[in-house]
Amino acid sequence: MYYILKGHNFIDDIVSILMLFYPNDKYTQSEDIQDGITLLSGLEGSTAYARLYIDGELKAEHSETAEGSDRREIKRVLGLCAALAVNKVRNIPLAWGILTGVRPAKLVSEAWSEGLGTDEIRRVFTQKYLVSPEKLELMIRVAEQEKRIVENGIGKISVYIGIPFCPTRCLYCSFTSYPLERYQNRVDEYIDALIKEMESVSAYLSKNEIESLYIGGGTPTSLTEKQLERLLCAIEKYIGIPAEFTVEAGRPDTVTLEKLRILKEHNVSRISINPQTLNDDTLRLIGRAHTTAQFFEAFELARKAGHDHINTDIILGLPKERENEVTRTMQGLEELSPESITVHTLAVKRASRLKETLESYDMADYALMERLLNIAGEYTEKMGMLPYYMYRQKNMAGNFENVGWCREGCQCIYNVAIMEEKQSIIALGAGGSTKIVYSDTNRIERIFNVKSVDDYISRIDEMKERKKVLKDLL
Ligand code: SF4
Repeated sequence: MYYILKGHNFIDDIVSILMLFYPNDKYTQSEDIQDGITLLSGLEGSTAYARLYIDGELKAEHSETAEGSDRREIKRVLGLCAALAVNKVRNIPLAWGILTGVRPAKLVSEAWSEGLGTDEIRRVFTQKYLVSPEKLELMIRVAEQEKRIVENGIGKISVYIGIPFCPTRCLYCSFTSYPLERYQNRVDEYIDALIKEMESVSAYLSKNEIESLYIGGGTPTSLTEKQLERLLCAIEKYIGIPAEFTVEAGRPDTVTLEKLRILKEHNVSRISINPQTLNDDTLRLIGRAHTTAQFFEAFELARKAGHDHINTDIILGLPKERENEVTRTMQGLEELSPESITVHTLAVKRASRLKETLESYDMADYALMERLLNIAGEYTEKMGMLPYYMYRQKNMAGNFENVGWCREGCQCIYNVAIMEEKQSIIALGAGGSTKIVYSDTNRIERIFNVKSVDDYISRIDEMKERKKVLKDLL
């Protein structure tokens, strides 16, 4: 499909709106109206307009005048016009209205800090951004949780370590993840490089209070027991162990009692064992290479090793999954009683195998996704959990959201730090993205590590050099 911009150049904003209505399509900028679908988005003075053409014929239009001339307001009216014009033809319910950003709850926090009261926020988001009352309440509930955690974390930092290896690659995966089958012989060298990077930031870390430490991936428990032990000892030496220390043990097929004991001995306070679904047919289909029985076994071993905060990730909208499958997954989790559950809705990412084979699956539509989210929400509420962090991605089934639910007191500080961006996060390892937050000027500086494992190992000195700004901050 095509889009034409006149009088402005907010490409990303217009494409994001098109993605709400025509997910997984190809969006091409054009000078002229084309065969097929063309959206014309224009701005004249402070008046935005949008016209939707199908095969050259005008099918719908909408215009709106901005209430001011600031960039945010102009982008809002452009998005609103585009959404309302397209929706005259598509007629799709928009639970999130025209909000397309990653962090909806952060918008509420920002509005609070600008002095808006919660009632005024309700008015703005329902009237100006067309957010549904249900999603608005979710935003506010999450923002309240995040606010408390952010306030406690002022002046502190968090640390992320990436272990980009997995047993196999899942169908929907878009992360930096290398199948162990091919990369087994590089893991030790990777840990060597990681230790060098830890050492290089150690002075900076020792001068700051670390509030949370998170080892993600990939699947950190893909490491052998010996490798895991070596990594954790290096962390103790160069970083130190904060009260909140999460290790993802995402793939149940990588979990052993010994690894879980090693994690516990090194004061890991939170682990995540992720079934994604409790249906074996789906697990096979999405290339997880483990069974539901292995998940239950891994969970039981974790309790046996003394882990008292276990998170479980699930994904709604997986191919062929409908109400029965999601109910079965939620029932299984309810029986296990984890401390937190992260409910994702499937996102079809460009870098995933799913994107290449999408047409062969019958994917969930908006109405089904809404029902699946309701089922998951009913169970998490029944389990006494509250929503404490949330994010959205592009190309999510039905344009919904990912929500972290937890029992009171089991909020993961690191997850909130990522969402609210009020705390510096030092990220180590391949694909690591460090954020240095300068709260006095409200500026964020980002430092990226290379994504490839091979490059990370061979260019580790350059990765250390990229973080030299941390030394300047000492
Ligand atoms: S376990 Fe996670 S990181 Fe690994 S392949 Fe699957 S989705 Fe990707």
